[in-house]
Amino acid sequence: MNLNKYPAEPYRIKTVETVKMISREERAKVMKEAGYNTFLLNSEDVYIDLLTDSGTNAMSDKQWAAMMMGDEAYAGSRNFHNLEKTIQDIFGFKYVVPTHQGRGAENLLSQIAIKPGQHVPGNMYFTTTRYHQERNGGIFVDIIRDEAHDAGIDVPFKGNIDLNKLQALIDEHGADNIAYVCLAVTVNLAGGQPVSMQNMREVRELTNKYGIKVFYDATRCVENAYFIKEQEEGYADKTIKEIVRETFSYADGCTMSGKKDCLVNIGGFLCMNDEDLFNEAKELVVVYEGMPSYGGIAGRDMEAMSVGLQESIQYEYIEHRVKQVRYLGDKLIAAGVPIIEPSGGHAIFLDARRFCPHLTQDQFPAQSLAASLFVESGVRSMERGIVSAGRNKDTGEHHRPKLETVRLTIPRRVYTYSHLDVVADAVIKLYQHKEDIKGLRFVYEPKQLRFFTARFEYID
Ligand SMILES: *Cc1c(COP(=O)(O)O)cnc(C)c1O
Repeated sequence: MNLNKYPAEPYRIKTVETVKMISREERAKVMKEAGYNTFLLNSEDVYIDLLTDSGTNAMSDKQWAAMMMGDEAYAGSRNFHNLEKTIQDIFGFKYVVPTHQGRGAENLLSQIAIKPGQHVPGNMYFTTTRYHQERNGGIFVDIIRDEAHDAGIDVPFKGNIDLNKLQALIDEHGADNIAYVCLAVTVNLAGGQPVSMQNMREVRELTNKYGIKVFYDATRCVENAYFIKEQEEGYADKTIKEIVRETFSYADGCTMSGKKDCLVNIGGFLCMNDEDLFNEAKELVVVYEGMPSYGGIAGRDMEAMSVGLQESIQYEYIEHRVKQVRYLGDKLIAAGVPIIEPSGGHAIFLDARRFCPHLTQDQFPAQSLAASLFVESGVRSMERGIVSAGRNKDTGEHHRPKLETVRLTIPRRVYTYSHLDVVADAVIKLYQHKEDIKGLRFVYEPKQLRFFTARFEYID
């Protein structure tokens, strides 16, 4: 095997957690009890847990040591100052507001930066991000390039913003009716697809002409930086840190879920350069999160996040991370299983439209595929299709995303290539009797972010 293609883990294992597999019969029983929603399974019943890469990271020995350095003062914790310094150094923003996780930052930003009726263009949507934008009167508009909606098109930087779509939106509604551009690096729901530096630069140039702000969803900015180093001309010799720093030089601020690229289990933050906006964010953070020096995170967790961020930009770490994900994708492609191509930074997305051509989108093929994969193998994944997309706020109709997918999300530093072999074998086996996957219907549909707690039953 080419070691550079799939490098070995750049760490050795110091603590282990036993996993066990329950019988197929038991898996079928608990999946039914969970209403065919993998979010409602007990973790104890799961063998390999690829539900999400959010908060499922394994921390390093240095991070655990940092946990002991927690300064749990209600105000002015030294851990906040360390975290603030690290973020300022890596991201380059002036101001940092900690929040309990990413959506806490989205809540604050949406409240202070959106006036009701303003448009909020973004490169595809994310569930919680769009929810907060709409809750604050924003009108979400998808301006990602068309190719991102097509699972089968293998092009680099599939997460890029289509500048013509952005220009058309400005022409139609005027710059004053655009709250800000929300640019995600990488684009989770497009399959973890990266955005090129050139695209970020061009978005900055265009928005500067009109005085429109740009806020990044920075959640997977380190994975994005790796793709730039690997695939964008002129970046091969730059460090990951330099690339991350340049990335944010084209933004007015960002929201961050610490639970992904920061290599911790909880936390998040909001950054900006504008002092007035910062003051508004500080006024609100005390209402929703806590003092501006902890924002809902324990001191020890801020310290671990500070160390995690520094580890995340180490080349050996991020190279292994992205290539380990690609390893799973390569195995599935070789077996003819339809996935979103190219493989993204944090997950492999099964293309449920091609996996289950016998089901219509209204029969929730991705939801059902995720349930079947668990019953088949004990592997937990997540629906990212029509169920996740929810309903249009005004018409009550389902949003109908072109991408109907099941996400196999790889936690950071948690599983080995052998685990991914097990996952690949399970998916390939299921693909061989895919006609057995049945359609589902709702028995309980929550009004907001329904995918988290909805329940289903088989249609026949
Ligand atoms: C996870 C995620 C968020 C929200 O962050 P939480 O920490 O889960 O609240 C926002 N955007 C993207 C792209 C995410 O993946």
